[in-house]
Amino acid sequence: MTGFQSMFGFESILGQEKPIRLLKTLLRNETIPHALLFLGIEGVGKKTTAMATAMASNCIDYGDENLPKEKIIRANRSTIQKITTKSGICGCCKSCSKIKSGNHPDIILVEPTGNFIRIDQIRNLCNTLTMKPYEARLRVVIISDAQAMNPAAGNALLKMLEEPPDRTVLILTAVHTSDLLPTIVSRCQHIRFSPIPHNHIEALLVEKQGTSHDDAKIIATMANGSISKALSMISHMSKINWIKRRAWLLNSVESLSIMSIPLRLAFAENLSKNKGVLADSLEVMKSWFRDLVICKFDPAQIMNKDLREKVQRNSNKMSVASLLSKIDDIHLAQKNIQANTNLRLTLEVLIMRLAKV
Ligand SMILES: [Zn+2]
Repeated sequence: MTGFQSMFGFESILGQEKPIRLLKTLLRNETIPHALLFLGIEGVGKKTTAMATAMASNCIDYGDENLPKEKIIRANRSTIQKITTKSGICGCCKSCSKIKSGNHPDIILVEPTGNFIRIDQIRNLCNTLTMKPYEARLRVVIISDAQAMNPAAGNALLKMLEEPPDRTVLILTAVHTSDLLPTIVSRCQHIRFSPIPHNHIEALLVEKQGTSHDDAKIIATMANGSISKALSMISHMSKINWIKRRAWLLNSVESLSIMSIPLRLAFAENLSKNKGVLADSLEVMKSWFRDLVICKFDPAQIMNKDLREKVQRNSNKMSVASLLSKIDDIHLAQKNIQANTNLRLTLEVLIMRLAKV
């Protein structure tokens, strides 16, 4: 766990002012619904915010930072007393300590084991929830990556959403509503999390990770709004240097049209060998073609800003229609890879298509 992730509370969450404001209002008014659905791309703070909500709901010393910090009270007829009210989650009361160490019996986290959240996990959860909370003011169940539930697990969860247990809130996190059963989606209040602005990620990398400004800018671009992706790219830098890998990927893509067919196939083979970084590599390639389109209309908005001249030069060479079809080609390859089709063949087809002028 990095220093950043081990921070707690709403203050540790970057760039999500709107959802946090909404949650604080629900907490303040004690109108938290039985089920919340946090929506947004990976690595934007959905789970951290769910944890902060669990802490704020149960912190013995919680004070809403939107309320005045000082309150004037009349102690008796003649004396007026000024008291300081608490601000935010205390982080050290019995409840906060237990939640931080993962030992609170009523704060339950359900996560995929492998690729799926299995029906047994949901059945166990249902059994636990038939009992009253042990000690929490509000029991909080976080179902992280809820799209990993198969339909059977989803249906088991649905029963619980139809008859919500007492003093309990379920927080589901997912990327899209379309990945979940519509009957689950309709029973939750939705809270949307935006991608984190690149400059926030850049600042975080410089300040907390000691990354250089130039590298932080490039990593922030590649992470495309996801803090966890940026942090993982930085922490794996010794194994895979993403700065160099991006340069290699974009140089290869740029010269595809003049490459011989054996070289194109070798590039596809190289990509297929490194499965662990394939998804991010395809995103880097997509960002390149997206930039070539954007450059035609609003050059200031391109993502790979450090490659402005290169982007400009290549953008002039290709039509919008051809660029958009290349983006579609990458998208199709991504879908095929997710569906477990023949990886090598999928990439060979993709590279041959991208090479067309
Ligand atoms: Zn506390």
